[in-house]
Amino acid sequence: MVDSAEAARRNIVMIAAHPDDIAHGMGGTAWLLKDKYQLNVLCLTKGERGLSREVSEETASIREKEEAAACKLLGANLTFLGLIDGEVFAGREICERVAEILKELDPIAVFAQWPVNVPDHTAAFTIAMKACSLAGIYHTTEFYMLENGVGGQTNQFEPDMYVDISDVVEHKKDLIRCHACQFRGENHIEKILSRNVFRGLLARCDYAEPFKTINPPVNRRWGSKTGNILLDL
Ligand SMILES: [Zn+2]
Repeated sequence: MVDSAEAARRNIVMIAAHPDDIAHGMGGTAWLLKDKYQLNVLCLTKGERGLSREVSEETASIREKEEAAACKLLGANLTFLGLIDGEVFAGREICERVAEILKELDPIAVFAQWPVNVPDHTAAFTIAMKACSLAGIYHTTEFYMLENGVGGQTNQFEPDMYVDISDVVEHKKDLIRCHACQFRGENHIEKILSRNVFRGLLARCDYAEPFKTINPPVNRRWGSKTGNILLDL
């Protein structure tokens, strides 16, 4: 088990292509983690194409504020990394920059997006993987991939683990509400949560968020006494 005083000093890093990806994909789990660890969101873009096909500074400004509001609820540090929505590429420069951040934060776990997905999410996954490798933490840091729930973005996703978010589902709703500009119809939140209900059916709880691991969770696998953070929730 994680010693609470020790855990409070450890970082968790969540790497996402767009504002709203974390809230939709793992808002409940992030809420469960937030009092045990320092959360850090690395957002590769400001979602500049979130409201039209053209890059819009106005849209970026709206979505930057929305992500900041969600991160404030989570007590998470937020860093935007300056890429452009729809133009996320896993080039050397961004991979090295994320690696430097990972070296500094020395996270106990990294969350990234499942790669069989919209192309920006695929690139975000690759950036996360490469950065972990460059930072030298690939074999020592827990690495989880999350399911994004907007518009069926995540495909071929067979979870390894489920987190029961039933007790914090109202907080997940609050996090999703922060991203009002991305709502797809009046019942947007219910549609998003229907995926968590489906996952909950599989996990025998009311609402669940699913994750995949790069390496299967095994006791003491990570060279650390802390074990697997999701099993401690
Ligand atoms: Zn996204």
